[in-house]
Amino acid sequence: MTGNISRKLTDFDAGITAIDTDYVRPRLAASHLVVDAGRAAFVDTGTALSLPNLLAALELKDIDPADVDWVLTTHVHLDHAGGAGALMKALPNARCAVHPRGARHLAEPSKLIAGSIAVYGEERFRELYGEIVPIDEARMLVPEDGERIMLGSRSFELIHTPGHALHHYCVVDLDHDLIFSGDTFGISYRDFDVDGREFIMPTTTPVHFDPEALCSSVDRLMSYRPRAIYLTHYAEVRDLWRLAGEMKDRVRAFADLGRCHSQAPDRGRKLRTEMFAMLSGWLDEHGFPGDEQKRHWLLDDDVELNSQGIELWLDRGSA
Ligand SMILES: [Zn+2]
Repeated sequence: MTGNISRKLTDFDAGITAIDTDYVRPRLAASHLVVDAGRAAFVDTGTALSLPNLLAALELKDIDPADVDWVLTTHVHLDHAGGAGALMKALPNARCAVHPRGARHLAEPSKLIAGSIAVYGEERFRELYGEIVPIDEARMLVPEDGERIMLGSRSFELIHTPGHALHHYCVVDLDHDLIFSGDTFGISYRDFDVDGREFIMPTTTPVHFDPEALCSSVDRLMSYRPRAIYLTHYAEVRDLWRLAGEMKDRVRAFADLGRCHSQAPDRGRKLRTEMFAMLSGWLDEHGFPGDEQKRHWLLDDDVELNSQGIELWLDRGSA
């Protein structure tokens, strides 16, 4: 397995490696492995089906599973934390840090499973996520906003970042001026890079999307003046001031699109069509050469989830 796994790893500085979790398509979702002074942490885990990749990465890096101290789940959406329970079983000494609003869902995942089946349907759910294993609460850390933990010689600050989800935190690596942002800083697929220039877009997945909270959380991340941010979708971005500005503009553009069609009888269809057109327009400005078919292949799942999230936000009446 280690022969194949090296193609799924991307090494960065400061002991950071992105591991492809093999979710849906290559380079869609990453788990980040951080190694410091012989100790290790995973930031996000992918699904239960990602476990072989994570363990193979440890083996390749010559890290004993007993030397993994932390499993940091930025939020409890299943492409980020679905595999946390299975992973914890393989790591005898690790603790799992979960946001106060997410902890009970990982300890008792039935509601999480039901929610995902509602979005994806039963068959697709099994295909995407495998079996969700509960996590023993005695092995959890439920961090307050700003709580600090140690990994080897470095300290991580865990900050609550609502907007994408109320159960979301980000991991600030204070010693290296880096941040692991989960979904808070949006999505930047490497497929959209043009001459190394990164493309960013928000993810407004059900059920907690809140545009102004999300923009404030982006500002809070930037207040640390990070050198690089590591996104679950996908890995390192560096052109941070431009990306932060575009991210906030695009969050507000999605919210405006929702408001504009809030009363339309075919609201869902309008949102999907116009969101795709909007993203495609931004890709044109970015210089992305891919044709319509490729854009649909890369964007359709996000357009679907984003539209569902915006509709729920409109239905909550907070728009
Ligand atoms: Zn998410």
